Amino acid sequence: MPTQQANAAPKAGSSEPLRSSATKHDPKKPHITETPMTRRNWYKHVDWLNVFFIIGIPAIGCVVAFWTPLQWKTLVWSIAYYYATGLGITAGYHRLWAHTSYSASLPLQIFLAAVGGGAVEGSIRWWARGHRAHHRYTDTDKDPYSVRKGLLYSHFGWMLMKQNPKRIGRSDITDLNEDPVVIWQHKHYIKVVLFMGLIFPTLVAGLGWGDYLGGFIYAGILRIFFVQQATFCVNSLAHWLGDQPFDDRNSPRDHVITALITLGEGYHNFHHEFPSDYRNAIEWFQYDPTKWCIWTWKQLGLAYDLKQFRSNEIEKGRVQQLQKKLDQKRSQLDWGVPLEQLPVMEWDDYVEQAKNGRGLIAVAGVVHDVTDFINDHPGGKAMIKSGIGKDATAMFNGGVYLHSNAAHNLLSTMRVGVIRGGMEVEIWKRAQQDNKDTMIVKDEHGNRIVRAGAQVTKVIDPPASAGAA
Ligand SMILES: [Zn+2]
Ligand SMILES: [Zn+2]
Repeated sequence: MPTQQANAAPKAGSSEPLRSSATKHDPKKPHITETPMTRRNWYKHVDWLNVFFIIGIPAIGCVVAFWTPLQWKTLVWSIAYYYATGLGITAGYHRLWAHTSYSASLPLQIFLAAVGGGAVEGSIRWWARGHRAHHRYTDTDKDPYSVRKGLLYSHFGWMLMKQNPKRIGRSDITDLNEDPVVIWQHKHYIKVVLFMGLIFPTLVAGLGWGDYLGGFIYAGILRIFFVQQATFCVNSLAHWLGDQPFDDRNSPRDHVITALITLGEGYHNFHHEFPSDYRNAIEWFQYDPTKWCIWTWKQLGLAYDLKQFRSNEIEKGRVQQLQKKLDQKRSQLDWGVPLEQLPVMEWDDYVEQAKNGRGLIAVAGVVHDVTDFINDHPGGKAMIKSGIGKDATAMFNGGVYLHSNAAHNLLSTMRVGVIRGGMEVEIWKRAQQDNKDTMIVKDEHGNRIVRAGAQVTKVIDPPASAGAA
């Protein structure tokens, strides 16, 4: 009931049964949200009706509960009805109507529309329109509950403060406008919400075991509070806590805690990537009771056409995100000066400098300054010194010792130049000129990827050279 009010789009007009005069406004006049909040006008920015429904009534319920003994039958009923109404939102409002991720038989539709109404979160039509805008405009100003405006805003601030209906992004709900159950529930929303939210849970406890007041307070008011807060977490917690295994450009995240609170809606990074999949959790061990219910309804013949993305598509997304993370990690490491940025040296110049005491070693046409490394060389000082001023390609690649992958990596951090006409370097340069990717693999930022064993200094079957002799 509360949510219906503040966010009714202007187009809905008279068909919105719950639009109060407080939220109706002349489109020519500036909306209250267009005036900055001050100490004098702050109360005009607050949607007091929603504050009463979302915070006021539960607060009164808490006080009255203090004098209302909680019977165990009422407790069990409250919890059961909590799950039923929560499911009305997750399996009904969200996965069935907002995303059409499966089809439901008429009895199941009526059940979900009824218990979903009992969660007191607006009509299906209103809810699905906002949710589709949320998916379409995630994290932007057009997102009705963008987490970029703060965690509390995305949780319920967007309902407690007045929103400018012009700001919220448009979404297509023509399919819902043709759905008789959706339209019926929207037209009779006040009756649905009063009956399913309060009267029905009170009657069950009252007629069942004579606990009318307990039914009203616990299965009615307080249960509404808990189910609202839990489902609000899909907009707040699910955009704030957890991992992003499929895409990290936007805020949706996966976390088991969110899943536990929201009847399985916690795998929200997956959900934003594959919104029409009837599942939120794709692993069998992940908690998604909404998915289990939909699957069970299918076995009972109540649900059909369950939509599911191919695991090939899902894994592609996961691999690409892993690759992105890997690229970030790789870009933080020192892979040596890129070959194309190294100065070109003549062979004679290289020999000359080495003779003059600089610890230069050429491997595969790349010159390395090992002066500071001579004392640390695991193979001993004499060995490394014997390569100075020579073509050490073959020595390094098995002629004397077949150096490890780590050694090639370390060597690359010492490179200071390339020799004109140096063999591997020349091949590499030619490949780059011909723009052939065969030898140079780059990540999305253009950084070269150096695979293990594919360093430029790694030469299989090196020709015997003078230096190695
Ligand atoms: Zn979301
Ligand atoms: Zn969704």
